[in-house]
Amino acid sequence: MGAMPHIAIVGGGVVGAAIAYELSRHPSLQITIIEQHQPAQASSGAALGVLMGAISHKTKGRAWRLRETSLRTYEAWVPELEACVGKPIPYNRQGIVMLLSEGADLANWDALISTRQRQGWTLECWSREQLRDRCPQVMDDTIMAAIYSPGDRQLDPTALTLALLQAAQQRGARLQCQTKVTGMETLASGGYRLQLETHGDGHAIAVDGVVIAAGLGTTPLTEAIAQPLDVRPVLGQAMRVKLPQAMGNPQFQPVLTGSDIHIVPLGDGEYWIGATVEFPDDAGAVTADPTNLAQVQAGAALVCPALTQATVLQTWSGLRPRPFNRPAPILEPLPQRPQVWLATGHYRNGVLLAPATALTIADWVIEAFDGDKNG
Ligand SMILES: Cc1cc2nc3c(=O)[nH]c(=O)nc-3n(C[C@H](O)[C@H](O)[C@H](O)COP(=O)(O)OP(=O)(O)OC[C@H]3O[C@@H](n4cnc5c(N)ncnc54)[C@H](O)[C@@H]3O)c2cc1C
Repeated sequence: MGAMPHIAIVGGGVVGAAIAYELSRHPSLQITIIEQHQPAQASSGAALGVLMGAISHKTKGRAWRLRETSLRTYEAWVPELEACVGKPIPYNRQGIVMLLSEGADLANWDALISTRQRQGWTLECWSREQLRDRCPQVMDDTIMAAIYSPGDRQLDPTALTLALLQAAQQRGARLQCQTKVTGMETLASGGYRLQLETHGDGHAIAVDGVVIAAGLGTTPLTEAIAQPLDVRPVLGQAMRVKLPQAMGNPQFQPVLTGSDIHIVPLGDGEYWIGATVEFPDDAGAVTADPTNLAQVQAGAALVCPALTQATVLQTWSGLRPRPFNRPAPILEPLPQRPQVWLATGHYRNGVLLAPATALTIADWVIEAFDGDKNG
């Protein structure tokens, strides 16, 4: 190993890409992202990119801190990335409208509005009439009110992940695809030798630090190094549909969300609709059930009847990495392995939490290699 600390990031999803981007600000670090397939194709490639921060019910502690940090960081990252890669990243700045059905606990929402006000975030409570006026596409009489969060966002997770990786590479990071990390040995120097498999060939690289951002690949990898961490799949299905034109006011196209269904405007009358939440059986297996997706589609059409006329362009499913029996995400050093960090198990919020995850991990990495801090 040379003088420059070499950090391997295992996983080229949105979390690994965000970490690579943040770490690549430090030219004194050598960074390699190792991805077993191609980047942005696993959970991150299936995500809808809805960033529910202010409108979430997380108000304190780590859960709120990560959300708030991420929302603020995206405001800086998106223009910075667009300038770096010379391409736009679809980023919806029109906020999120949460639809409330009859029986919703309005007192609870009022309390959240006050909390957010103290925290410097705006949430508005709209009556049914105000909702009709601003989002006339919503024509469901069981919806009695809505909460509008102008500070929340939505972005295209694939475009984002690829831009983060491209920008990190422009700053010197290396991306090694079609390479699976199958093991890790401690070296006498205090670093690690990672065992890699590429098209059936085994080889190894020596590194000084490792970030495990492997999503569902975390379990087999941590098992291989005798420190098993249980991350299980929760399946999500979604679809892309097309209408002749945008629903409602073409100048105001926020994300609509309610009863766990998101309607995400993409422009030109196209929308993503999703996502199902399907848990594995006792053996850990889960397959996409078309009736669940049909229910989500029908639920969206109840809210916005214009969607009954939409053409389905594409359907897909992905597996969210959910930590078993502990809160998401897992952000911590791997016990007994100095300079190995876990950034995994982001479950339903990996896109939302990627920037805050990256800042947290970058702080730890920089602190561990303190001498190189000013690089
Ligand atoms: C349908 C659906 C909708 C979603 N919507 C949202 C949303 O609106 N907002 C939101 O914030 N989140 C959403 N999510 C959740 C989000 O997608 C995940 O939390 C996030 O993508 C996790 O990112 P990741 O980088 O940790 O994992 P992944 O994207 O799964 O990336 C992990 C990568 O590691 C690689 N890897 C694994 N093991 C190894 C190994 N041994 N060696 C090398 N590489 C390895 C994998 O190939 C993979 O590319 C959604 C998920 C789904 C399925």
